[in-house]
Amino acid sequence: MIAPTVPVTVAYNKDPSPIKLNLGVGAYRTEEGKPLVLNVVRRAEQMLVNDQSRVKEYLPIIGLAEFNKLSAKLIFGADSPAIQENRVTTVQCLSGTGSLRVGSEFLARHYHERTIYIPLPTWGNHPKIFSIAGLSVKTYRYYDPASRGLDFRGLLEDLGAAPSGAIVLLHACAHNPTGVDPTLEQWEQIRQLMRSKGLLPFFDSAYQGFASGSLDVDAQAVRIFVADGGECLAAQSYAKNMGLYGERVGALSVVCKTADVASRVESQLKLVIRPMYSNPPIHGASIVATILKDRDLYNEWTVELKAMADRIKNMRQQLFDALQARGTPGDWSHIIKQIGMFTFTGLNTEHVAFMTKEYHIYMTSDGRISMAGLSSQTVPHLAGAIHAAVTG
Ligand code: PMP
Repeated sequence: MIAPTVPVTVAYNKDPSPIKLNLGVGAYRTEEGKPLVLNVVRRAEQMLVNDQSRVKEYLPIIGLAEFNKLSAKLIFGADSPAIQENRVTTVQCLSGTGSLRVGSEFLARHYHERTIYIPLPTWGNHPKIFSIAGLSVKTYRYYDPASRGLDFRGLLEDLGAAPSGAIVLLHACAHNPTGVDPTLEQWEQIRQLMRSKGLLPFFDSAYQGFASGSLDVDAQAVRIFVADGGECLAAQSYAKNMGLYGERVGALSVVCKTADVASRVESQLKLVIRPMYSNPPIHGASIVATILKDRDLYNEWTVELKAMADRIKNMRQQLFDALQARGTPGDWSHIIKQIGMFTFTGLNTEHVAFMTKEYHIYMTSDGRISMAGLSSQTVPHLAGAIHAAVTG
C-alpha cells in the first residue's frame, strides 16, 4: 500500500511490475503512452530557429505584446467588445499557475475584498497559490458524490451567502479534479447571482479546446460573463492545449469597466511582476504567437487539439463499455458524462489502495484518473481492476 505522502509518480517509478499503469499524470499521453509534441509546435519552432533576425533580448515586464493580444482574442473571442473598447489588460505569465499567482497577488494588494471562494474540491494548488498571495480562502459546494455530478443547489446557496464583492474562482471548463461542469443554463444562473451580489469572477482556463475539442465551446462560460460588461479575471494556460507544459506559457487578463481602469491595472500588474521574476521567458510565447497569428498554423493546431480531445473521449467510452460488458455493479455513466482529462471515478481510498497493490495501477487517492494516461490496450486491465475493487 502507498503511504499517502508518497507522490503517485514516485511510487509508480519504483514499481518494477511490467503491467504498471500511471493514471496520476496531469499531462497528455499518446496511445503508446508517450508525451506528445504537436506537429504545429515543431513547425513554429522551426520557423523561429530559421529567422536569423530573432534575438534573445529581455521581453518587457508584461511579456510579448503580440502574444498578449492574441491570447485575449483566443479566450474572449475575436469580436469581443471588451477588447475593442480597450477594457482588457493582458500580461504574459508563467503558465496557468503564474497567471493565477500574479492575479491573486494583484487582488490582495488592491481589491477591496480579500476573500476568494474556491470550489470543493478543486485543483490542489489553488488554495496554496491564493493564500500565499495574501487572500483568505473559503470554499463553495461544487461536487455531489451521490450523483457524481454538480451540487448546483449547494453552489448557489454558498455563493448566495458569500459577502458582496468576494472573489470567486471558477474553472472555465473541464473542472479539475471532477470533470463536472455546469450547463450553459446553469452558468447563466451563476452569472446572474454573482453579478447581483457584486462577486468578482476569476476564471481558471487550463483546458480551452482540450475538453470539447472546440476552442469556442470551451470559452463559452467566460464569454457570457464578459458579454455583460462587468469585470472579471482570467488565467490562461497553454500547457495542455498546445502541449507546452515545460515552456511555462500563460496569460492573465483583467477585464475592466473602462479603458482608463485597464491601463491603471496594467501599471499595478507590472509592480507585482517586476520584483517576482522581472519579465517572462521568450521562447514559449513566441511559439504561441507564431501559431495564433498564422491562419494555416492555427487551423493545423485546432485539428491536432481536437484529436487529443477525441482520443480522451474515446477512452471514456471504451472504459465505460468495458465495465458494462463485465456487469460491474453501479452506475458508471459519469465516466462518459464528465469532460476533460480527468474522471472522478467515485472509487474510495481503499479501492485505490487495492488497485495499486493488486493491479499496479496508480492514481490519486481521491479516485481521480487521467483518461489521457489510458490506451485501448490498458482499458481492459483498468476495467478488471475496478471490477475486482468494487466486487471484492
Ligand atoms: N489550473 C488547473 C485547474 C489545472 O489543472 C492546472 C494544471 N494541472 C493549472 C491550472 C496550471 O497548470 P500550468 O501552471 O502548468 O499551466
